[in-house]
Amino acid sequence: MKCIICGEKDSVERGLCEDCLFKSVSITFDASEDIVICPKCGGIKIGKRWHYRNKEHEMQKRIESKVNLRGIDGKTASVSFSDFDMATDDRIEFEAEIESSSGLKHTFPGEVHLKKLLNSCPECNKKTGSYYEAIVQIRSSFGEYDSSIDEVVSEAIAIENNLEKEHSNSFISKIEKKPEGIDIYLGRKTDAAQITKAITDRRPSSLIVTKSLAGRREGEDFNRYTYGIRILGLTEGSVISMKDGTYIVRAIHKENTRLLNTETGKEKIVKSETLFRNDYRVVERKIRKRKFIVVSRNGEEVEVMDPENFVVSTVRGKFSGNEIELYSYEGRLY
Ligand SMILES: [Zn+2]
Ligand SMILES: [Zn+2]
Repeated sequence: MKCIICGEKDSVERGLCEDCLFKSVSITFDASEDIVICPKCGGIKIGKRWHYRNKEHEMQKRIESKVNLRGIDGKTASVSFSDFDMATDDRIEFEAEIESSSGLKHTFPGEVHLKKLLNSCPECNKKTGSYYEAIVQIRSSFGEYDSSIDEVVSEAIAIENNLEKEHSNSFISKIEKKPEGIDIYLGRKTDAAQITKAITDRRPSSLIVTKSLAGRREGEDFNRYTYGIRILGLTEGSVISMKDGTYIVRAIHKENTRLLNTETGKEKIVKSETLFRNDYRVVERKIRKRKFIVVSRNGEEVEVMDPENFVVSTVRGKFSGNEIELYSYEGRLY
């Protein structure tokens, strides 16, 4: 049977001769390829991933996966590339070998145009500390730097270390200590949101998020976010003087804070948010609990001995164990 198009050669597939079968074939690459190149290290970003080694090979894999075939019921058998250099070339030429459904092969040329954008990569950003998407500002309710902030900063760094294992663009650009607190600059905005949530969920705090336009990046508006966290400057063991007496801060929770009156030894529970009003005086930043040895028990009281000076005192309350931890303040135990 002759070819149904040219009528000259013998048909080999779908009534067509080999020449006519491949005449209508074209190979396409869907759209030109946007490539981000880091001007500092030459790393390239293909799709969402940065590559620092085997860049040409990574690019070839990308092209192979996006080559399309038109005009024939067949497949791309292989793609071979002319030599190219990602740093200098804007065009990549290749040849695709097409295989028809009956196994006939022909080779077709193709090319991809690269649209190159320059942008510093996460690795270089990390090294220079210049890039960040968000700042987590940690401030104390007393308006100046105090040690309660350190604990929160350690927590934030621990969370970020875990996020860095999961996301290549997660990093801390820099940490800045200021008279009023600490600023943590982060490479990834969502990290800031996650860190902020963990910190504010766990303790009395307030949060204000602000956004500012920082320029344009990869053709889009680039905003920076500031997560302003204010935490309670008090810690467990702080001693404060209020209108109705002096108190040791026994336990701080998100909603409520338990205070211990140093005169009466009685407990008072206040809403944690009211402590942000600062209508009290801090007598001691933090007193530490010490270990005492239980000598005897008697109903609601225990007799304890101070292992430092062997002085025995009586403490009200129910305690278990042979050793108990107590606050010692102005000669009294709590
Ligand atoms: Zn023909
Ligand atoms: Zn780089």
